[in-house]
Amino acid sequence: MAATQKLACYRLPPLPTIGEIIKLYNLRAEKQLSQNFLLDMRLTDKIVRQAGNLKDAHVCEVGPGPGGLTRSILKAGAADVLVVEKDTRFMPGLQLLSEAAPGRMRIAHGDILTYRLEKGFPAHIAKTWEDVPPNLHIIGNLPFSVSTPLIIKWLEQMSNRTGSFMFGRTRLTLTFQKEVAERLTASTGSRQRSRLSVMAQYLCTVKSCFTIPGRAFVPKPIVDVGVVHFTPLAQPQIQQPFKLVEKIVKNAFQFRRKHCRRGLEMLFPECQRQELTEELLRSADVDPTLRPTEISISEFRALADAYSKLCEENQGLIDYEFREELKLKHQAKRRSGSSHKGLHL
Ligand code: SAM
Repeated sequence: MAATQKLACYRLPPLPTIGEIIKLYNLRAEKQLSQNFLLDMRLTDKIVRQAGNLKDAHVCEVGPGPGGLTRSILKAGAADVLVVEKDTRFMPGLQLLSEAAPGRMRIAHGDILTYRLEKGFPAHIAKTWEDVPPNLHIIGNLPFSVSTPLIIKWLEQMSNRTGSFMFGRTRLTLTFQKEVAERLTASTGSRQRSRLSVMAQYLCTVKSCFTIPGRAFVPKPIVDVGVVHFTPLAQPQIQQPFKLVEKIVKNAFQFRRKHCRRGLEMLFPECQRQELTEELLRSADVDPTLRPTEISISEFRALADAYSKLCEENQGLIDYEFREELKLKHQAKRRSGSSHKGLHL
């Protein structure tokens, strides 16, 4: 009897289907906002199951649109669902859903790239970083146009323990274009290994859950979609500032098919390039002939630690950007070219 009552409280009263909501409010998909809707509740339920047990959970859903995934989150027993949607056309449909789940759903009109999630949930749900994760989840069938900048922003916040990570190791269950999902989960040495793989995996356990064929969405995107689950690590595998790690990883992957030495060299000004690159690789004990895709996370850790030490010893090195040096050189060349022309005149 108790079990039946429990189940009943998660059930939503009869509502128009998502297809009917789309027709009712004339919700034509906007390409600009990467709108591809999921109408099949079995699929939205499956995405939500990847988040784990949502009973009494606080959830932020990114881009609820017509609300299919939102219904699955509410059905899974979440106590407090904050949905952040940029497109006001969805508000009446979301309002209908919120009335069907009184006190359990809050609607925010806003841009998830700037939305302050740290203000979205009560302080008492916070756990310390080393503790078990808080009962707070971020879930979203992400708009393709923002999925990569958004995950990079969240990884940086994870590293700094800001935003939704002020509450502890908040877990994320998100969709990406299949190719991006593959990059996020790619292991050392694999073809898809990239900057994104290293940046995500040094901070989280990243799990590829399943693939959704493009035909499951309305309208159908040209690519398939991967569902990825992230749990922040209690001990990040690299203990250096995010921006420093990002700089090393970006440089290392600059020449993907070449030896890693070639990209890492560009961390240093031309006048000290050979000497400091050798010192970096020697003190990190990394083989200069490895391809960027073959560098493991522990080797990236050694590179980050060695580079940080070199920055302490060489003033201004941390701010060095080879592109800036190159730009200045080009400008100087152009200037000297035009002053020559001036002489001829
Ligand atoms: N969750 C719905 C579903 O699964 O059917 C819709 C998913 S659709 C791929 C992406 C949703 O994100 C759309 O509703 C779109 O309006 C919204 N969106 C796009 N950019 C956004 C942004 N910067 N902030 C918040 N929502 C955004």
